[in-house]
Amino acid sequence: MSVEADDKHYLWHPFTQQEIWEAEPQLVIDRADGCYLFDSEGRRYLDGVSSLWVTAHGHRRAEINAAIIDQLDRVAHTTFLGLTHEPATKLARRLVELAPGHLRRVFYSDTGAAAVEIALKMAFQYWQQTDPPRPSKTRFFSLNNDYHGDTVGAMSVGGVDLYHALYKPLLFPIYQEPGAYCYRCHLRKSYPSCGIACLDQVKRTIAAHADELAAVVMEPMIQAAAGMIAFPPGYTRAIRETAREHDVLFIVDEVATGFGRTGTMFACEQEGIEPDLMAIGKGLSGGYLPLAATLATEEIYRAFLGPIDSGRTFYHGHTYTGNPVACAAALASLDLFETERTLDKLQPRISQLTEGLRRLETLRHVGNVRQRGFMAGVELVRDVDSRQPFPAVERVGHRVCNEARARGLILRPLGNVIAVMPPLVISEAELSFLLDVVEESVRAVTESPE
Ligand SMILES: *Cc1c(COP(=O)(O)O)cnc(C)c1O
Repeated sequence: MSVEADDKHYLWHPFTQQEIWEAEPQLVIDRADGCYLFDSEGRRYLDGVSSLWVTAHGHRRAEINAAIIDQLDRVAHTTFLGLTHEPATKLARRLVELAPGHLRRVFYSDTGAAAVEIALKMAFQYWQQTDPPRPSKTRFFSLNNDYHGDTVGAMSVGGVDLYHALYKPLLFPIYQEPGAYCYRCHLRKSYPSCGIACLDQVKRTIAAHADELAAVVMEPMIQAAAGMIAFPPGYTRAIRETAREHDVLFIVDEVATGFGRTGTMFACEQEGIEPDLMAIGKGLSGGYLPLAATLATEEIYRAFLGPIDSGRTFYHGHTYTGNPVACAAALASLDLFETERTLDKLQPRISQLTEGLRRLETLRHVGNVRQRGFMAGVELVRDVDSRQPFPAVERVGHRVCNEARARGLILRPLGNVIAVMPPLVISEAELSFLLDVVEESVRAVTESPE
């Protein structure tokens, strides 16, 4: 049987309407090289979304492959319950050295959603056993359009209706306010003359419920999954400061933004933010293996110390916590960031992306383009003047991605937003090709005669 036939017979894909999946032809990826993926018939595609925002240094990097093989020659997996190993300790030290602010402790897991859940549980438990305890601080605050993963706790602090509304009865209650979505401002103001007026509502709610709030959880600088909604500069920092003023912990979700995506190692650096807890995942292993982590300050960590009968233990873990092969891949990826000066070399590519996006902004059905570093989104609209969206049933984003695929570029839409997330090491010529194909594909779908 062919791979495609078996897939359609046996598999169930993430975020996928299987009825459509089964009816349409599907691409089978066979191998990869650098920024390219190759299908089973040998056709080549530029990986325009870094295999869902993870690939940093390209596919099949000799250095990361070698680190993985070297680790396999020692041990592929050993439990982290009651044992430790060098790849985990070395990586933890490196992460603490790189992390913003005063994060000092690393708790491993294997997906971004788990890293967020762990941060939520740590924040909740911290207030139960800090000295003196604040048992009323059990709730969380987040913004509309936040995305933190698909497990029940991570969904509870999420705010993307398409993904979360159905599950409402399962989710724990939180406080939530609209975030800054400047293109579709709920206050009908415009930036910068608004003075970021929407912050007032956020600050008021955090202040009003500070006694109940364990933490504010937030995607810094840009809400990725909701459609690359970029916040005004200073916005994330203002919310961090509000949390601090009211004695509420600040959990930053750098799962998407971490590891160079916004142009610095972490988005927090650009906003001068020192978080209390930080979730990382996606690019942590350079795009190789599932690995995530939650970083905590020493102050939070200390609240969990005590004799065995103190009840302060953090009872949380996953079978593959701290997998040594994944840690080895992450270490090799961090080495590459240093030896190749990846972030320095990225800066001209970020400018090139900015230029290319400016060109796209002039297209007849491009309503808004948004970018933070090497994360970008192109919002397509039926009517530019009224900002009227294309109806979801038209699947405009999906069709643009199909056009791009026919031209040798893999993209993945977020509704009517075309996400552009190239590998950090993409070359000038490759990025130029990517931008041309995005433009051609958007035109092919939105400007072709009915
Ligand atoms: C992708 C993502 C997650 C979830 O990560 P998974 O590894 O898919 O569970 C959480 N937060 C943000 C900001 C993300 O982009």
